[in-house]
Amino acid sequence: MQKSDYRNMWVYIEHDGKTAAPVALELCCELRRLCDTTGDRLYAVILGELPASETDRIRECGIDGIIQVRGTGYEYFNTDAYANAFTVLSRKYNPSAIFVGGSINGRDFAPRFAVQLNTGCTSDAMQLEYDPETGDIQFIEPAVGGKIMAVITVPELRPQVGTIRPGTFRYAPTGAKPEIELIEEEISFDPDAIRCRHIDFIPDEMDPEMDIANADCIVCVGNGLKDSEHLERYRKLAKLLGGKIGCTRPLFDRGILPYKLQIGQSGVMVKTKLYLSFGVSGAVNHTAGIDADLFIAVDKNPDAQIFNYCDYGIVGDMDEVCDEMIELLKAREAQRASI
Ligand SMILES: Cc1cc2nc3c(=O)[nH]c(=O)nc-3n(C[C@H](O)[C@H](O)[C@H](O)COP(=O)(O)OP(=O)(O)OC[C@H]3O[C@@H](n4cnc5c(N)ncnc54)[C@H](O)[C@@H]3O)c2cc1C
Repeated sequence: MQKSDYRNMWVYIEHDGKTAAPVALELCCELRRLCDTTGDRLYAVILGELPASETDRIRECGIDGIIQVRGTGYEYFNTDAYANAFTVLSRKYNPSAIFVGGSINGRDFAPRFAVQLNTGCTSDAMQLEYDPETGDIQFIEPAVGGKIMAVITVPELRPQVGTIRPGTFRYAPTGAKPEIELIEEEISFDPDAIRCRHIDFIPDEMDPEMDIANADCIVCVGNGLKDSEHLERYRKLAKLLGGKIGCTRPLFDRGILPYKLQIGQSGVMVKTKLYLSFGVSGAVNHTAGIDADLFIAVDKNPDAQIFNYCDYGIVGDMDEVCDEMIELLKAREAQRASI
């Protein structure tokens, strides 16, 4: 195998037939940056049908081409047909790298086609870099309990396959190219050979309070919290700020808050304007999940690692500081109401 025979990068466009998944657009934006460095062309791979308005959004991310696959087997997501499509396409076009959003579906089929192609698959990278000496992509992610940042490469095989966690990269479209290449492929997969049967689709009736990934303000409560009775004041503060509650892993482990509110490497990645943390020590597994315009941390330990990450640090008792913030916000509200 000659690495130089493999060129260009692909992004799998996950969709539900109506809209492209945000992670697919995030990946296109980040991969545009990487392809500008490597000189590769960037292709969006779409299996099945997607409305033109959505392909326009994908084009806005600066892609060079679209590989549109039609045929049987793509009506609903299924590992067999999807893995087969990427195997067939990859053998035909020899891409250097294929990126798949680390959704439940993406994590399911990406390693499968990587195995079929006899190559390596890296999961959950948080940073992508290019090594010009080797021509390899560096997939960078926390490892050994977050104590180190591991740099993982696929040094001898191609394509380099990676799944990337939703929310890791910013959706920052650079604009559509005036001309893009359209490759249309017909790859049919015998529906009888699909080992999973689609029985029904039941949408996740998500409580909006549990949807914190893009909340404007997050009040994050950490293990410094004494017990669940002390939680109410943080809910009050979040409400006053128009924000939502989030937590670190120990609060989920202690059964105080649900997993959907856990922020970090093994929880939700959040993008927010204001992040307020209370009693959070600042482990990299947690901070890796935060992208905040303004980060304010409260901790009683002046040496807590969190003070290396935040914009403003307050050393003090978390409950007392929270109560004080509530009083100040209430006073400000009352002042506004009296004007
Ligand atoms: C593979 C792996 C994945 C992980 N993924 C995640 C993840 O996604 N998200 C996550 O959060 N963690 C994750 N963790 C766990 C992570 O490493 C840390 O253990 C965790 O983030 C610590 O949470 P904490 O800061 O709330 O608790 P602690 O580290 O126990 O810190 C508590 C803080 O509260 C302060 N404190 C105590 N009392 C008060 C008080 N009265 N007033 C003010 N401050 C007070 C203390 O000084 C301390 O700084 C992961 C770990 C591993 C190994």
